[in-house]
Amino acid sequence: MQTLSHWIDGTNLEAPADSRFADITNPATGKVSSRVALASAATTEEAIASAHTAFPGWRDTSLARRSQILFTYRELLNKRKGELAAIITAEHGKVLDDAMGEISRGQEVVEYACGIPHLLKGGYTENASTKVDVHSVRQPLGVAAIISPFNFPAMVPMWFFPMAIAAGNTVILKPSEKAPTAAQWMAELWKEAGLPDGVFNVVHGDKEAVDTLLTDARVNSISFVGSTPIAQYVYATGTANGKRVQALGGAKNHMLVLPDADLDLAADAAVNAGYGAAGERCMAISAIVAIDSIADELVAKIAERTATLRVGDGTRGCDMGPLVTAAHRDKVASYIDAGEAAGATMVLDGRHVDPDAEGEGFFLNPTLFDNVSTDMSIYTDEIFGPVLSVLRVGSFDEGIETINANPFGNGTAIFTNDGGAARRFENEIQVGMVGINVPIPVPMAYYSFGGWKNSLFGDTHAYGAEGVQFFTRGKVVTSRWLDPSHGGLNLGFPQNS
Ligand code: NAD
Repeated sequence: MQTLSHWIDGTNLEAPADSRFADITNPATGKVSSRVALASAATTEEAIASAHTAFPGWRDTSLARRSQILFTYRELLNKRKGELAAIITAEHGKVLDDAMGEISRGQEVVEYACGIPHLLKGGYTENASTKVDVHSVRQPLGVAAIISPFNFPAMVPMWFFPMAIAAGNTVILKPSEKAPTAAQWMAELWKEAGLPDGVFNVVHGDKEAVDTLLTDARVNSISFVGSTPIAQYVYATGTANGKRVQALGGAKNHMLVLPDADLDLAADAAVNAGYGAAGERCMAISAIVAIDSIADELVAKIAERTATLRVGDGTRGCDMGPLVTAAHRDKVASYIDAGEAAGATMVLDGRHVDPDAEGEGFFLNPTLFDNVSTDMSIYTDEIFGPVLSVLRVGSFDEGIETINANPFGNGTAIFTNDGGAARRFENEIQVGMVGINVPIPVPMAYYSFGGWKNSLFGDTHAYGAEGVQFFTRGKVVTSRWLDPSHGGLNLGFPQNS
């Protein structure tokens, strides 16, 4: 069986003799395809040493050279992204089109980072005081660790590493052990693009590797994406160890549908954003908040569309693939049991499934619940599966209150043709990313991605201007070039004249 090992200092490391391993499984067939080595603290330290050693050379590499390498990386990625999509589908299970989509969204961040010479420009003030000039620069932090989840094996790492590398940092990526091969592929692509060895390293592993990254003094920043409890742990441990941390957590995204909305558009959006990637998206819509008067009609439209979806192996042109593991499929199914037991109305039961696939894949059909209340576990918990819950409310105000009372604040959407209502929603909703007649509002690369409340710990969002900010620190230089007419002793606090 093939073994995937770590990428350190520009080469594929042989798995150390004392390694622990995890199986990599194809979720569409249920078969183990290969295994991945899980790094010990010592192996993780090797990657940290490589990144630490490469840092001085990379930070002093000219912006012209850095952006050339980024351009080359972008060209290679664009040309060969079909290979990467096939890897993602084989380990995550999402359909090929969807895998291509996530790569394209990641590629946008690479394209944004190609403009790093412009993004890093500082300010300059001539004659701030007489013959005294002031300018500001932004400098890289050092070693940046990125810890990513299983659900976007390419896009989520690309939210961070193009910005980190462009700004002059060196990187250690610790991808999810459930879908690790994409990281290796992207590392090899960097080498082909001409990135010096040690600037981009990949360490595979679990808590042991993460804890080493969180505590080693040579690591300067942590960018984490994953579930909320782990995000909280990473934020607390990383900051206690003096690191700059951005930790993006889980989500429960609501879509509010007002009576004047185009209900066909809203139903299409609910199905696309609810069941795309089998609901394993941090921006998936999992709760539809419908005003009573249109709820029956909306639920009927969603159910009618959902019944046409083809579930199966992502390589066969199906609409929805499997869940990532058997354990996750069973957990999602247990939430469906709990919703039924709690008295929600089961409109479509996804536990009975006849997928278009060979073998024993981890499939569920889309599930639709109506009349869900806010105390049911299908509403309070992030399910991360193809389960859509409809909550009925009496008014627009009640809809806003429901969404604002939820502890997560990642994404939300409103469907309406009333500009005033949309504007009020945008203004009052306590969520970081808002869609208006758009169901998955993942911001463009020149904005920044991030939620509020339990969906993000730290104060900086990913990529865009905030990404540049996160991976650099500012310095202000005040200078005076010798002028014989100035000088002399003055022990008072410097004042400008
Ligand atoms: P996860 O929290 O299980 O794992 C995320 C990362 O943390 C992985 O690299 C994993 O190896 C590591 N990890 C797991 N347990 C750990 C522990 N005890 N100590 C230290 N590290 C540990 O998340 P997942 O199941 O891979 O991904 C799904 C979650 O990610 C969902 O909650 C989803 O909402 C969230 N997510 C959020 C965003 C966002 O932008 N906010 C984006 C994508 C995914």
